[in-house]
Amino acid sequence: MTQHGHSHRHYGESMLSVEEALERILDSLHVLEPEERPLLEALGQVLAEDAVSEYDIPPLDNSAMDGYAVRAVDVIGASTDSPVTLEVVGSVAAGELPRDKVTTGTAVRIMTGAPVPEGADAVVPFEDTDELERRGPSGDLNEIGIRYEVKQGADVRPAGQDVKKGELVLAKGTVLRPSEIGVLASLGSDKVKVIRRPVVAILATGNELMEPGEEYEPGKIYNSNNFTIAAGVLRYGGVPKLLGVARDNLESMNSKLREGLDSDILITSAGVSKGDYDMVKDVLAQHGKIDFWSVRMRPAKPLAFGVLNAPNGKKVPHIGLPGNPVSAVVAFEQFGRAAIRKMMGKPNLGMPTVEAILDEPIHNTDNRRVFARAVVTKLRGEYHAKLTGDQGSNLLTSMARANAFAICPEDVPRKDAGEVVVVQMLDWPEEVF
Ligand code: AMP
Ligand code: MG
Repeated sequence: MTQHGHSHRHYGESMLSVEEALERILDSLHVLEPEERPLLEALGQVLAEDAVSEYDIPPLDNSAMDGYAVRAVDVIGASTDSPVTLEVVGSVAAGELPRDKVTTGTAVRIMTGAPVPEGADAVVPFEDTDELERRGPSGDLNEIGIRYEVKQGADVRPAGQDVKKGELVLAKGTVLRPSEIGVLASLGSDKVKVIRRPVVAILATGNELMEPGEEYEPGKIYNSNNFTIAAGVLRYGGVPKLLGVARDNLESMNSKLREGLDSDILITSAGVSKGDYDMVKDVLAQHGKIDFWSVRMRPAKPLAFGVLNAPNGKKVPHIGLPGNPVSAVVAFEQFGRAAIRKMMGKPNLGMPTVEAILDEPIHNTDNRRVFARAVVTKLRGEYHAKLTGDQGSNLLTSMARANAFAICPEDVPRKDAGEVVVVQMLDWPEEVF
């Protein structure tokens, strides 16, 4: 038996569970270092330091309504039938500081968000005054009739109500969603320290591949894997670095691999099924260490994982996805997504899941975990999963029709219609769960 023949058998025999494969990959990855980013560009990144407020928010007591700032004691007993008349001594708009004080028997016209003048302790909204009737075409009012009594503090938003000076507002480790981006803006910062996004080098392999945009040549197929993977990298917060296609020869593989060595992780597709091991293995062995796995899953059984040595001494993890377009996506969603999230410092490395009722059976012929492409919909409060038809791993449009993977566990030969299965949701915002 040749050495290579022996290694085929060896690698073919070591079947890993999905969890074992994932654990091995994640164990060789680190959370990346922090960087300072313009606030908006940090959407989806993880806060690398506590955010503490240097101010009260709001900074001053201010009005929750357009109306009149008054002393509550002055309007006790006011009603529509017997309004209390106050002298209007001034007005204050949002963004201004009050020029006038409210003293006994007086009021200041005030707009929403404007600071409450000294002396006032409540705001009476316009609709509870007779302003509309009083205000002639000529403009300013000297007096106002108050038609309701108000409690002290009514429609006044106290300083520091949202955030107190010195308070921990967002803890290190928080994922920045639109609301957190807004909160940071409210603290006055236009930059934020977050865990850096990983640069993910993406390489396709195969003599049959052409790049989209090139004129079609008979016998060839377009390289779709790089695009699904790069789009996935973008979706999960990484920075894709497209390396194009390596041909099935040593020189091409070598030169393309070298281009990927300045990235944080390299994701390749194809060349990991049995017939291809030798060439890819030889090339990768020159750059580091690589294992070829059989993972107990369908599709995407063959998977490669290794760590390459960059010239600068850095270790670059490498995930080798299978070539079939659906297998590449399934393996990317299970392993690539988790890898990116770990490097970004995110919680919840697994995909969001729910339970759904199967509308048709999933067959499991060889004790692997089946990830069936499915359309999950909600019907009368329950999730239902329909499969997208033929589950061939070459049928990329079936992936485009799916919004979930419905899972049949490895030790279950069949999940019948009506049974409940776990489904991984493909399009749920990543922080939903
Ligand atoms: P391989 O692992 O090289 O045997 O490839 C398995 C299957 O996936 C073959 O049918 C390839 O043509 C196909 N394939 C490999 N790479 C790509 C790619 N980048 N885009 C689309 N299909 C691919
Ligand atoms: Mg190939």
